[in-house]
Parts: sequence; structure tokens; C-alpha cells
Amino acid sequence: MMIEMQGVYKTYKNGVTALNGIDVTINQGEFVYVVGPSGAGKSTFIKLIFREVAPSKGTITVNDYDIVNLKRKHIPYLRRDIGVVYQDFKLLPKLTVYENVAFALEVLEESPKNIRKRVMEVLDQVGLKNKARFIPDELSGGEQQRVSIARAIANHPKLVIADEPTGNLDPDTSWEIMKVLEEINANGTTILMATHSKEIVNTIKKRVIAVEDGIIVRDEQRGEYGYEI
Ligand code: ADP
Ligand code: ADP
Repeated sequence: MMIEMQGVYKTYKNGVTALNGIDVTINQGEFVYVVGPSGAGKSTFIKLIFREVAPSKGTITVNDYDIVNLKRKHIPYLRRDIGVVYQDFKLLPKLTVYENVAFALEVLEESPKNIRKRVMEVLDQVGLKNKARFIPDELSGGEQQRVSIARAIANHPKLVIADEPTGNLDPDTSWEIMKVLEEINANGTTILMATHSKEIVNTIKKRVIAVEDGIIVRDEQRGEYGYEI
């Protein structure tokens, strides 16, 4: 098992309860969609996994790390095995494509030679080797998202978490991004993806976890999106 949650609750400081008793197991190599209405708790669920948010109650294990009792100084080690992709890309605007990806490896104290090799390898994987010297503003939305995916996988993470990765992209571009994520998954990386795309979920069939009012209301292999929008 790679992610296990038991009896997980999250109440924020303002009194809002975002998660109301989550029990779930996700195995290495799975591709999982997280769906549900806005405010259901999807982002909170995802953020618990890389310790962006701490649970109020319950136990969480990720890659053998006990997330609840993890000491602050050990959080970076947990995060080395997790790549995160956001809806709004979160690229550094003044750095080139190359530098945005290299930056993720430099903080890990890799040698310059290894960094160079790995950056070009992942840029090739997402089809952007020829744009290494561009800055984010010079790229389309889909290309920027591919850079952010390259950055997320640069360190060979076991898990990639994507929070609405196609939310800002047109349909054609969204399918391209899905193709890249499916390739990464085919290499054994677990993918956990929150999405509002009915088309994607109902076409590329994967496990679907539906969250409503902070609980899992549905968990199906090759599931449907299940909502009208
Ligand atoms: P902790 O992780 O220790 O519980 P919080 O996440 O509650 O800390 O603190 C973050 C702050 O950001 C809160 O005070 C909250 O008011 C604010 N915040 C961020 N996102 C939201 C949101 N979606 N709704 C309401 N408040 C938010
Ligand atoms: P979703 O991703 O499904 O839209 P979220 O996990 O973002 O759901 O939010 C679940 C609930 O928790 C919402 O009511 C939201 O306003 C609240 N919330 C999210 N983050 C915070 C925060 N940092 N502080 C306070 N409330 C928050």
C-alpha cells in the first residue's frame, strides 16, 4: 500500500470541517481520480498527503511515512517522493523552462552533470526539449503545464498528485496532458488527480473516488464522473 488513511478528519481553524471521516487505501501504480462538488474536501484530501495540511484526527501513512507524527524537519524527505502539479502551473516566471525543472533538482543537491542529463530527459519526455530556453510567458498553457509535469517527475517520485491539472486548458490541450500523465502512470508512478472534467473521467476509465461533504460517497474501479458538470 502506498497511501492509507483511517478515520481522518480535518477541521480548519475557522471551524469549517473539510473532512469528516475518510478511510481509503491506494496502492502503488494506481491511477485515481478524485471528484466531487466544489467545497467537498478534494483539495484538503490531497493536501494531507504531502503534509500541506495536518489532519485534526486519524492516521495517514504515505510511502511508509507516518504523516501525522512526522517531524517538521522530515517533511522534505516525504516530499522528495511526491511530485505535485497545480491547475495554475506555479512556474517561476523569470526562469527558463530548463531552469524551472533544474531548480527542483538543485535543491536536492544533485551534481550539475546529473541535473543537466535529467532535465533534458524529462523535457524530452513531455515533448519540450526544443523549448528549454524559453520562459513560461513564451509558452502556451498546455506547454506550461507540461513543464510543470516535467518538474514534478524530475526526481523520479513514486507518486504524482495533480490538483485539476486541466482546469485552465482547452479540451484538445487537456487530452495531451492526460496522455503525458498516462505515460507516467504506465512507468509505475501512482497518479492521484482531482478533476471536474466529466469528459476525461468518463473516457479514460480509472478508479474514481467521489467526495461529498468531507466523506467518500463512492469508490469504484473504472468509475464514472457521476455529476452533470
Ligand atoms: P492549519 O493547517 O494549521 O489548520 P489553516 O489552514 O487553518 O491552518 O490556516 C490557513 C489560513 O488560511 C486560515 O486562517 C484560513 O482563514 C485561510 N484560508 C485559506 N484557504 C481558505 C478557504 N478556502 N476558506 C477559508 N479560509 C481559507
Ligand atoms: P474542494 O477542493 O472539494 O473544493 P476544499 O478541500 O478546498 O474542497 O474545501 C473544503 C472546505 O474547507 C470548504 O468549505 C473550504 O472553504 C474549506 N477550507 C479549505 N481550505 C481551508 C483553509 N485553509 N481554512 C479554512 N477553511 C478551508
